[in-house]
Amino acid sequence: SPSRHVTARVAPLGARLVLALVEDRTRERRVEAVRRDFVANVSHELKTPVGAIRLLADAVHDAAGDPDAVKRFSARMLTESDRLTRLVQQVIELSRLQGDDPLETPVPVSIAEVIRIAVDTSAIDAASKQISVVTSGTHDLDVLGNEEQVTAAVANLVANAVSYSEPGSTVLVSTKVDDQHVSISVVDQGIGIPADEIDRIFERFYRVDPARHRSTGGTGLGLSIVKHVAATHGGDVHVWSVEGQGSTFTLSLPRYLSVRESQEASR
Ligand code: ADP
Repeated sequence: SPSRHVTARVAPLGARLVLALVEDRTRERRVEAVRRDFVANVSHELKTPVGAIRLLADAVHDAAGDPDAVKRFSARMLTESDRLTRLVQQVIELSRLQGDDPLETPVPVSIAEVIRIAVDTSAIDAASKQISVVTSGTHDLDVLGNEEQVTAAVANLVANAVSYSEPGSTVLVSTKVDDQHVSISVVDQGIGIPADEIDRIFERFYRVDPARHRSTGGTGLGLSIVKHVAATHGGDVHVWSVEGQGSTFTLSLPRYLSVRESQEASR
């Protein structure tokens, strides 16, 4: 009968609608949980340097008659406030990145320019450790996405390579290209990452046992920014590392093809 026909057609549609709504709600709740976690983590991470600065200020105050102690405590205050500054910067960066979708209005982003800015950004830290940062490969390429985000990702990889390397070593930034992707590899001869921790380093605030190596004042947010940028650009990021020998991080992003190139490619 006609009415049965209608029911049969409506029911699966209704069921699908309900299912879609449930999925939507589940997703919403998951997003909300992640956000709550993030806020809790940020508050926790902020309390550590703020608490330390407070204690050190007290110590400086009490040590007024002892110039050596004042010097020592104030040096540590500087370190802690630098850490706090970096943390605040990276939290702002991360939340800004999460606000916009780079593929909504993608533009060609010059890899040469991105690498130049990334290398420049680490130049002072590299020079102070006599680390040479060298580049190789074809840089005259564009990826498709958001320039600020791609630059932030590559700059984080170069900054890490410099901070987890021994003085006098070399950091190499190289690019490779195929039809669809541009891969940017950052290779260091640094401390490497223990095999049992490598899966976790892209998590927010995760740092390889900070006691094991010299404190570098990192925040644990850099690689989560890289991972986020890779994901939102439809690319990915891989790490290969041997403890005590070095690490290679490879960020792969979709290539921008000019109209002419894509016409040639489809021929
Ligand atoms: P951080 O601010 O601590 O550098 P990241 O999220 O950038 O935070 O990195 C997370 C952790 O991964 C670092 O604390 C460090 O232990 C490890 N790591 C990242 N890059 C490297 C590298 N190039 N060599 C060795 N370890 C690294």
